[in-house]
Amino acid sequence: MCIFCKIVNGDIPSYKVYEDENFLAFLDISQTTKGHTLLIPKNHSDNVLSTSENTLSLMLPLATKIALAIQKTTNAQGFNILTNCGEIAGQSVMHFHIHIIPRYQNDTFNISFTSNSFTKEDLTTLCSNIKESL
Ligand code: 5GP
Ligand code: ZN
Repeated sequence: MCIFCKIVNGDIPSYKVYEDENFLAFLDISQTTKGHTLLIPKNHSDNVLSTSENTLSLMLPLATKIALAIQKTTNAQGFNILTNCGEIAGQSVMHFHIHIIPRYQNDTFNISFTSNSFTKEDLTTLCSNIKESL
């Protein structure tokens, strides 16, 4: 059983901020910023790509509701709401979860998008290949 399923089962303690029949949100143990919370479906799925559309459709509204509650509590000035999918992307727990990361002036969390150069031709081909794969 994965570590988050153990949290759902109550085998591992957690600071639960929200729970219903299908979802659980609890404070991330790392607290990368104050209030850093994870939202998970209780039913195990490995990552966002293997989670049902129905589950996904319910999770973003829940994540925003939790973010607003965190904001009220901590005066966060912004949020990163994200999910890591696959080890290469930094996923370390293979039970789908959404990170709700409150942001503060001078906090230590760092997310940066580096830039790469592609030709117009590259981008045109890339774009049409993706479109055709949908
Ligand atoms: P990932 O790297 O998979 O996107 O994120 C996994 C997150 O789970 C990490 O931020 C890590 O701190 C958190 N985490 C790992 N084990 C536990 C645990 O036992 N309890 C809690 N609350 N968080 C955990
Ligand atoms: Zn699990």
